[in-house]
Amino acid sequence: MENNHHNHRCADQPYIIQLDNDYYCLTQEVINQNAELKIIRRKDWRQIKQKFLSLENGVLKLAVTSPENKEGFELTIKIGKDKLHVSCSCGQPVEKLCSHAYAALSHVSYSHVDSGFFEKHRAGGPVELALKHRKHFRIRQTNYNTDVEQNEALGSIYKISAEDPPDSVINLLKLKGTPAPKIAVKEETALSYLLMCSSWRTLPFLIPAEAVLNKAGNAPKGFVKYIQTADDPMLNGESAICKKCFKLMELVKQLPGTIEDAAEGNVSLLEEVFQLWKEVWPLVKRQPFVLKSEHWLWRLLKQKPRKSVTYPVNISNIVPQVQFELIDKGAYYRLQLNILINNAALTNYDFCRLIIFHKDQAYLLGSLRDAAIIELWNKLGGFLTVFKEHFDDFEERALFELSDNYFVKKYSENH
Ligand SMILES: [Zn+2]
Repeated sequence: MENNHHNHRCADQPYIIQLDNDYYCLTQEVINQNAELKIIRRKDWRQIKQKFLSLENGVLKLAVTSPENKEGFELTIKIGKDKLHVSCSCGQPVEKLCSHAYAALSHVSYSHVDSGFFEKHRAGGPVELALKHRKHFRIRQTNYNTDVEQNEALGSIYKISAEDPPDSVINLLKLKGTPAPKIAVKEETALSYLLMCSSWRTLPFLIPAEAVLNKAGNAPKGFVKYIQTADDPMLNGESAICKKCFKLMELVKQLPGTIEDAAEGNVSLLEEVFQLWKEVWPLVKRQPFVLKSEHWLWRLLKQKPRKSVTYPVNISNIVPQVQFELIDKGAYYRLQLNILINNAALTNYDFCRLIIFHKDQAYLLGSLRDAAIIELWNKLGGFLTVFKEHFDDFEERALFELSDNYFVKKYSENH
């Protein structure tokens, strides 16, 4: 024995058991080949208790105790498909396996046929998976084994269950059948209409767009494209409104972006534009998805609408009323324009030449003249100041005629 002393190792250093297969099988025969006779013959470590401690990346830790000796050690087994690295915390000098490792391995393999213990505890195997996803498995740990039962809802588990579905699928696909239809699975889209507004480049116009709906199907969450041809499949049965949209776009392209400039250039074209808006307004009111959007450049209509510059609006039947207030401020008069909806003056509205936006409502103005006069007053900064020494002149030149066309409320502001 003394001669073999140099062969001894400390039991806490890994000892490699070479398996006689590539599939994690350990038999008693192989265990015996890896232990000295005196270890195999020891009786005090025949009856042991074993407790699972941990399993991570195929490294299994077990607590091994002998009730007889009242001793306990920690065993570490690194599981490979054709070898096991075994170490024991006892740190005793041994040639091969220490008596604790020998006893534990004999218990888990327990017969001349493999028990499947190491295959089950392999890295990425069922026990590891179950410990990681406990709520999907039932785990039962006994002295010598870990039983794992999957929830039925899981069916077969890829890489875990005995079957290899990918292999079977590929094999079955060799059978005759018809190929899948070449239709891309796409999200639900719907026809929407965008009220395109520009600060000064163009008068407002209306353009259909293919929108991607949200899960509930009640609002666009994005857009696929602008629709600019009457034969687009999205326009099925919507020809009347779309023809008007396309015509409107065509006319707006020929006009400058303000009513004042458009009226100076070609008033009949401008009137045609407004007429089209009046015709399209009740039609677009019936559409489920109408959004206000910003128009920059015509070539951008080749791209898809940007969701970030759109917001949904309700098309209102109400025609905004235009009124004036002439307020005596002492040294001067202030002539102020008000836009009324249901007799209440709007504050913080968004003027888009022919359309007024207020909160989530869109109002088409009652006439080109209303639109033009609002445009002018916006340009003036909201009101006109007339000093009293100029008032007679102003009254004669403009106010009388303005009063014939618009209600002018006159009052004095108390100082
Ligand atoms: Zn030991």
